[in-house]
Amino acid sequence: CGIIGYTGKLEVQDVLINGLSRLEYRGYDSAGIAYFRENQPHISLRKTAGKVKDLRAVCDKVNPSTCGIGHTRWATHGGVSTANAHPHRVGQVALIHNGIIENYAEITRKFDLGDELQSETDTEVGAALLNHFYSETHDPKTAIRKAVAEIKGSFAFGILFEDHPGEIYAVRNVSPMVAAYDPEIGAFIASDVTAFIEHTNRYFVVPEYTIVSLSPEGIALEDLKDGKEIAPKMMTVDWDL
Ligand code: GLU
Repeated sequence: CGIIGYTGKLEVQDVLINGLSRLEYRGYDSAGIAYFRENQPHISLRKTAGKVKDLRAVCDKVNPSTCGIGHTRWATHGGVSTANAHPHRVGQVALIHNGIIENYAEITRKFDLGDELQSETDTEVGAALLNHFYSETHDPKTAIRKAVAEIKGSFAFGILFEDHPGEIYAVRNVSPMVAAYDPEIGAFIASDVTAFIEHTNRYFVVPEYTIVSLSPEGIALEDLKDGKEIAPKMMTVDWDL
């Protein structure tokens, strides 16, 4: 149960897989990544039940992408399988999630999402819900706002939207998430700093119910409810690996 996201100058596949290896101590049963590529559809997924080394084996040898998200899963809803591994893609959205969407069954009924689901996870319902609102508005932040208003439970979400290459969106409640930005390298989110400490040691804890927008140019935070800009409280990790 770990997440990482990166957009910047480095090749993302290495950043994600190395970051997931550093998060292995948290325990997990499956792993996966999603990243943007040049060709349409832009978002590509690689995932597998098993270890990060098994994920590496199903990834391309050379991958020039510089933006993506990665996940290690500790199954809570749905068995351990490649189909249930994250990221989950529904329509225009790819989603990684740590936590539990408690009311996934009600959301599925209320928004008639059943036909779109291919896994047994609570998370895929979250992806379908985000895609439902994104299809209406084509605005990532509005889609996140509307989806989070429906969701009960714990979550650290990392989200890619098909027609926003280079951008990652994130939001959390209870489940942990930290973020970091270095103008020479790029922007990171992760479950904890060990995932990106080899790249940067300046980071902040993502406040709950805050929309985080990452791009190679920086990280913006805004309050989920009133849209007000929030300044991150920067911290420094002062230990070496
Ligand atoms: N509840 C989700 C699932 O079972 C996420 C589990 C996790 O935190 O890794 O797929």
